[in-house]
Amino acid sequence: MAWRSMTAGTNEGLIEQLQEHGIIKTEIIANVMKQTDRKLYCRVAYPYVDRPHSIGYSATISAPHMHCFALDNLSKYLERPDCRILDVGSGSGFLTMCFARYLQASSPEGTGFVVGIEHHPKLVEFSIGNLNSDDPKFLSTGKIKIIQGDGRLGCPEYAQYDAIHVGAAAAEVPDKLLEQLKPGGRMIVPVGPAGDTQQMEQYDKSMDGEIKKKTLMSVVYVPLTDLNA
Ligand code: SAH
Repeated sequence: MAWRSMTAGTNEGLIEQLQEHGIIKTEIIANVMKQTDRKLYCRVAYPYVDRPHSIGYSATISAPHMHCFALDNLSKYLERPDCRILDVGSGSGFLTMCFARYLQASSPEGTGFVVGIEHHPKLVEFSIGNLNSDDPKFLSTGKIKIIQGDGRLGCPEYAQYDAIHVGAAAAEVPDKLLEQLKPGGRMIVPVGPAGDTQQMEQYDKSMDGEIKKKTLMSVVYVPLTDLNA
């Protein structure tokens, strides 16, 4: 994927540029991302730049074009009124909120919800603060659940999931996540070595449980790690 680095003075300006460059292709994604102001999720001087930003603890909030990619790739699943979404390595909480706003926009009466799992306690706290400063109703109504834990094990409590997004690079695809994917569901996960280029892989589980893998593009993500190692 080729793109020019985009920068704007406002969240809305950044989203408009992403639309002009064809990175945001649908109104629903543009609206969801306009409502979710990046400055509430990364406390930096210039949040509206199309690049990742540090959020501390060796983590980054992903670049806006990668958030767009995830929303676009998983849109069909987010449109199911009772969908369950798992966001592994939810970090700042930005994408978790975008998933929840997408669900709400496409099915206002739907029963779907988003589970964000993050292993670093300080980032769990950070994301809860960010989400509440954006709109506290998502956490208070259970449309977003933030869980502290090892995302490589998924979150069996709410499984199975229509879509699983992994926001950190796995050396190998975690089996537990594939198990927790609903038949008819999709997982996207960057796979490859830490500190190098990885491949964004897409796993589609058919209704009879068969898994089909597709390699989508080269990416660079921070690794999925073991907090206790
Ligand atoms: N989508 C997030 C990406 C955050 S970076 C955002 O845009 O804000 C990846 C995140 O994965 C980091 O917050 C990191 O702490 C978390 N992480 C790494 N290994 C993990 C693991 N084993 N379990 C859960 N979270 C993990």
